Amino acid sequence: MTTLAQHLNRNLAAAQPSATYVIIDRVAQRRAQGAKIISLCAGEPDFDTPAHIRQAAKDAIDQGHTRYTQVAGSRALREAVAAKFRRENGLRVDWQDTLVCSGGKQVIYNALAATLNEGDEVIVPAPYWVSYPEMVQLSGAHSVIVTCEVSSGFKLTPAALAAAITPRTRWLIINSPSNPTGAVYSYHELRALADVLLQHPHVLVLADDIYEHLIFDDQPFYTLAQVEPRLAERTLTMNGVSKAYAMTGWRIGFATGPRWLLAAMEKLQGQQTSGACSISQQAAIAALQGSKDFIVHSREVFQRRRDLMVDLLNAIPGLHCETPAGAFYAFANCQGLIGKTSATGRLLATDEDVALALLEENDVAVVHGSAFGLGGHVRIAYALDDASLIQACESIKQFSQGTR
Ligand code: GLU
Repeated sequence: MTTLAQHLNRNLAAAQPSATYVIIDRVAQRRAQGAKIISLCAGEPDFDTPAHIRQAAKDAIDQGHTRYTQVAGSRALREAVAAKFRRENGLRVDWQDTLVCSGGKQVIYNALAATLNEGDEVIVPAPYWVSYPEMVQLSGAHSVIVTCEVSSGFKLTPAALAAAITPRTRWLIINSPSNPTGAVYSYHELRALADVLLQHPHVLVLADDIYEHLIFDDQPFYTLAQVEPRLAERTLTMNGVSKAYAMTGWRIGFATGPRWLLAAMEKLQGQQTSGACSISQQAAIAALQGSKDFIVHSREVFQRRRDLMVDLLNAIPGLHCETPAGAFYAFANCQGLIGKTSATGRLLATDEDVALALLEENDVAVVHGSAFGLGGHVRIAYALDDASLIQACESIKQFSQGTR
């Protein structure tokens, strides 16, 4: 006899919980028990939301922005989002071509859930953000994982894309700068992918641009629909305020794309969460329309931290990492530790064992690379102050030196 608890939705039952949140929760538990953990696991800026944005939220409450907005977002925010896409990305967007969701995650989930059926395929280049394949799974479709090796800069090549497309392909997901590798696609790399996509008009593209403003060394940012405007009619370009304006908790994501797709996503959202938080929407308007000083400052800080981390990590025996071009993650190869035992005698058979032992024994939290589709690595988020990062690397070094 099956129990009530076994009667879950079968797509949900087959999905994994979010790997990032599993570790974030584990850190919270250990901290509640009194442990002093340095957490390099959560992908969120450590800065406070800028003061003018916080003030806009306080004003919003006082001015009565406390009721439902339209499901697709307030007209004022959608105008600001459209202006952002025109100004920063060169996309031809009116406010009706936008949708606001409760975080970037909801944009992606809505898009996949609104369009996928059983048997459909989604091309997910690996390493990938942990939630893409699970969201595909929740929609009953199938992820076609294309492993992108370090030799291609962890980026999808046109040949690999062409080989992965089948008549059942519904979506390709491109995330630049990438979580977890920090890889950034250049204009020419996107151009070459666009040439392949132009030959396959049945494929939709999800451009996850959430780390747009975190690109280092003065490299420019490009998004696919900008590089090839003919793809705009089948590209969902998504972004949000979380990473650019240190607003992860405010939960505002947005997108532009073909109106039929936005309408389907809005229909789904209207039966689910309705419009995003009205106060957060007012704050997001202030973010998009206000000073960009914060973006410039945080980019400089993250670039400096990146350089610090790459140097420190590469000095640790058993670890090696490339220099990421963007985001705030180092994706370090930890194969030098695999097969060894930790100081307390744990066998480090996998990257997950490495991450777990590092947390349990040396109080540093990172996320194992296999959660991102590439084992033998760990993702290290360097969204912390320099002193904590230096201390974390010292602990990782001690951990590594204690292995046998
Ligand atoms: N995107 C962030 C990360 O990768 C936040 C956690 C999540 O939603 O997965 O750490």
